[in-house]
Amino acid sequence: MTAPDHPILLCHDCGAPHALPPALPGHRAECHRCGAVLRHFRTGGLGQAVALAIASTILFVTANLFPILTFELEGRAQTATLLSGSVALWDGGYEVLGVLVFFVLFLAPLAQVLGTLYVVMPLAAGRTAAPGAAWTFRTVARLRRWAMAEVFLLGLIVAYVKLSDLAELEPGASLAALVAFILVQVWGEASLSPFEVWERIAPQTRVAQTANADPERLTACHDCHQVVAGANGGESQGACPRCGARLHHRKPNSLPRGWALISAATILYIPANLLPIMTVVYFGAGQPDTILSGVEALIAAEMWPVALLVFFASITVPVLKLIGLAYLLWTVQRGSPKRQRDRTRLYRLIEGVGRWSMVDIFMISLLAALVQLGAIATIHAELGAVAFAAVVIITMLASDSFDPRLIWDAPPRRAQRQDSSMIDAHD
Ligand SMILES: [Zn+2]
Ligand SMILES: [Zn+2]
Repeated sequence: MTAPDHPILLCHDCGAPHALPPALPGHRAECHRCGAVLRHFRTGGLGQAVALAIASTILFVTANLFPILTFELEGRAQTATLLSGSVALWDGGYEVLGVLVFFVLFLAPLAQVLGTLYVVMPLAAGRTAAPGAAWTFRTVARLRRWAMAEVFLLGLIVAYVKLSDLAELEPGASLAALVAFILVQVWGEASLSPFEVWERIAPQTRVAQTANADPERLTACHDCHQVVAGANGGESQGACPRCGARLHHRKPNSLPRGWALISAATILYIPANLLPIMTVVYFGAGQPDTILSGVEALIAAEMWPVALLVFFASITVPVLKLIGLAYLLWTVQRGSPKRQRDRTRLYRLIEGVGRWSMVDIFMISLLAALVQLGAIATIHAELGAVAFAAVVIITMLASDSFDPRLIWDAPPRRAQRQDSSMIDAHD
């Protein structure tokens, strides 16, 4: 029995096996079946990624040191830092929202930059991986979509537009740092190849060639893509030899979990739209705002681009996500062999777009932090905002629990798998 020439890689989106030659800088490999990027070795190498992660850390600290926005009305001024919104939500009795904003705006981005630095710095210097590097890099990747600095920036723009005809607004020094942080983060991410990092932490151990013949008998780690022989239909198969994550041939209970989460989000979508998300009290007169009335107010003020943005992020995206996920679950359940590539694309779109619905939550948090001028004007969050945030989080968890490889596990292939395992049983 000879080892295969190249380590086997299973596509993370469709499960197709690939035997790829050693990668060269700048080399990009795509799945022949679904078009997913299997690996991409960047030309900058790990040194560039380290430099950008250091720059990110400095910019993130700066973004938290100074005011981000100052609000002036009737001679009184209020400043907000990056975290003021989280504090204002907590103080206003919405502790859950305060913690959520703190997590996605502070903890997750900070853990991302520091974690990347911890893992990549020794590797770039040619040393062996730091202790716990595999766990750290796995966690960094999982936190990626919960780090929402760029979504916050959009929320800040909406808050700015909403307040601009009410009062004087002045950007603070930290706003420039935040914008720079977001740009450097995007650049850093584009210059780092996770595949390369995993290979440097520990090269993939190869599976025996007999197992290569049938991809259904191989399992790829969801986190580091290490391929392991043996599959037992979605049950847990112990820990990944490279990163220690729990191995599953497919994400466990993908369908029932998906349906349960979609149902919960659909139910919560009703109070999220019917209940007010915030109340604006201006010279003693209070006025509650729902998501839709907020959009209407922007239209009445002829702020069309921002009105469209809020309508898209807060109303269109959650509904399309719920319909899209239900469609994916339903077609997988029926074992539909049609339009597999399109459905995989739909899944990627749903995965990517979900976090942008947090715009309204960030907008409310900033308004609640800035507009605290006693008898003149105050803004505070309302229960609808909690329901809406829950819809966003639950739909993100729903798309996370869906396994796109199920789209490709159509019944004919399942039948084939049974045949080949029967042949092997006679060997
Ligand atoms: Zn694929
Ligand atoms: Zn792994």
